[in-house]
Amino acid sequence: RPTVGVLALQGGVREHIRLLEGLGVRVTPLRVPADLTGADGLRVDALVLPGGESSTIDRLLRLVGLREPLAAAIRGGLPTLGTCAGLILLARRILDPAPGQQTLDVLDVTVQRNAFGPQVDSAEADLDTTLGPARVAFIRAPRVTEVGPGVEVVARHAGHVVGVRQGSIAGLSFHPELTGETLFHRRLLGLGGDDGP
Ligand code: GLN
Repeated sequence: RPTVGVLALQGGVREHIRLLEGLGVRVTPLRVPADLTGADGLRVDALVLPGGESSTIDRLLRLVGLREPLAAAIRGGLPTLGTCAGLILLARRILDPAPGQQTLDVLDVTVQRNAFGPQVDSAEADLDTTLGPARVAFIRAPRVTEVGPGVEVVARHAGHVVGVRQGSIAGLSFHPELTGETLFHRRLLGLGGDDGP
C-alpha cells in the first residue's frame, strides 16, 4: 500500500485525506520535516499540496522548516499534485504575489491568483481534460498564464489553462476533492488504474 503525504499546515486538508483513504492508500499529514523524511529516507511515495491561502501556507512552510526538504523531494521525482493554492506553491512565478510571498519554484509555469471573475469565484464545472471528463469545484481559483516548454496542459476552463503536468509534478487550479472526483489523484499520482478503485 502506498503512503501519500498531505501537506497539513492550512487549508482544505481533510477533503484530500478522505478522498485518498477512499482509494485505499495510507495517508500521512505533513506538519514538520520529520513527517516527510525519516532516518532511512522519504516516508511517503507521493505528495498532495491542498488548497487554502497560498501566502499563508508559504509562510508556515518556511516557519516549520519544510520548504527546503519539500522542494528537494519534489525535484527528486516524488509524484506531486497541487490543487489551487497548492498549484501556486509549486509554480515558478506568481504574477501578483502577496507581499513577500515565495513558492517552492518547481513547476515551470506562471500563475495569476484569484484570476476568475465573480461568475466563477465559487462554482462547480464539468471539465473535459486530457485524462478524461471530470466534475470539479473552483474557489477563488488561480489560472496559469504561461507554461514552460516541458509543461503539458491537461485541462482548460473558460479559455484558460487550469491543469498542468511537468513530469512527476502536477498542478490544478480547481478542487477535485470537493466533488469527490478521484481521476486526478489516481492518474497523476499513479494510485490505482484507469478503471478506478
Ligand atoms: N486564492 C487562494 C490563494 O491565492 C487560493 C484559493 C484556494 O486554494 N481555494 O492562495
